[in-house]
Amino acid sequence: MATDLTREQEIIQLPSDQDASGRDMGDDEIVKLVEAIESGTLTSTKGKFVQNLEKKFAEILGVGSVFACSSGTAALHTALAAIDPEPGDEVVTTSITDMGALTPILYQSAIPVFADVDPQTYNITAEAIERVLSEKTKAIMVTHLFGNPANMGEIMELAQSREIPVIEDCAQAFGATYRGKPIGTFGDIGCFSLQQGKHITTGEGGMVATSDAKLARRMFLFINKAWGYGDSRPDHYFLALNYRMNELTGAVACAQLEKLAEFVDRRRQIAARMDKGLADLPGISIPRVEPDGVHTYWKYCLHVDSLAFDGGLDALAGQLRERNIFCAPRYIQKPAFECEVFTKQCTFGNSRFPFTLARAEAIDYRKEKFPGTYAALASVLVLPLNERYTAEHVDYVVDTICKVATDLQKASS
Ligand SMILES: *Cc1c(COP(=O)(O)O)cnc(C)c1O
Repeated sequence: MATDLTREQEIIQLPSDQDASGRDMGDDEIVKLVEAIESGTLTSTKGKFVQNLEKKFAEILGVGSVFACSSGTAALHTALAAIDPEPGDEVVTTSITDMGALTPILYQSAIPVFADVDPQTYNITAEAIERVLSEKTKAIMVTHLFGNPANMGEIMELAQSREIPVIEDCAQAFGATYRGKPIGTFGDIGCFSLQQGKHITTGEGGMVATSDAKLARRMFLFINKAWGYGDSRPDHYFLALNYRMNELTGAVACAQLEKLAEFVDRRRQIAARMDKGLADLPGISIPRVEPDGVHTYWKYCLHVDSLAFDGGLDALAGQLRERNIFCAPRYIQKPAFECEVFTKQCTFGNSRFPFTLARAEAIDYRKEKFPGTYAALASVLVLPLNERYTAEHVDYVVDTICKVATDLQKASS
């Protein structure tokens, strides 16, 4: 029998990453922002903030080049444009990711081919990637979902053996490492997002990172309408957009970047406290991390055995939400390929391009091909988390989950 928890436990307000309660920003950002405004130079082609940001982030990652851009989506688009697939070429990616990782593939006239995910880590695996590789595979895009590194050892071994470039989507994985090396430096290009809810933020913004000089050159150009800044005879060399970050954003990003290590540290401490409090709860598993991975918890995800609870995952989530824990059962609700852009092939006019170029197998989204994806979405409970959670907040979340889970525990289990 469910008890009325509201009577026994005070409901508290958790800090939110959508406003000042859960975002650590203030004087440091303001000082730099004022400096940018007073300089009168708001374009990164002339200013210093975006340049500084790029230089500092390249140092942090230990890569040759970083370029800032207007969003994480722009970063992924830039990365793929640098690889420059032929129309109809295929990019292997994951069924559980942000749409911003997928639409750039279509904009570059390539076909996203979905690999299934590991139902425990929610990440794609080398094995699943290998199953969908074809003659037309031009790139592999790996999302390190929720801040949990994918198994880059196996994935890079596969990619290198087939000479297929890898783009790492690190939008959720700032500060994560694998075998001691930063995520985003295993593949050919790493992409990051500075969107409101990410580890560090400027509201919108993105960055691409690489140590490959040729890719770096093409990414720089793609962000700049392919205009050859600094060349003796500059021209617009190829089809490209203006994806530049402006100096106002760059100023805030510089201040945020200085706090990244501290934010990552706090997130890891918060997650460790959650792990400790939730480790032994029947029917619920704490996040599973690859043995060589360091997770930086963009979100904290529980793996819930729906059958163990009355009303399953939804009842559990509903009760937590009633207590101000705004968790999301099923994360994105459905695999990316069930969205209309894929099911109705809504692209350019009525052309359905580039789907018209796709192999039938590449755009066959039958459920039975994705058992891991459906199992993952049916069991994942995404809990919010940010750098301003105190020990008291964490304990509230842990205690509430324990109480709700115990109440809903099926009598038989
Ligand atoms: C946020 C996100 C993106 C897109 O970044 P935006 O800055 O929102 O455009 C891409 N991939 C993943 C995994 C994300 O979480």
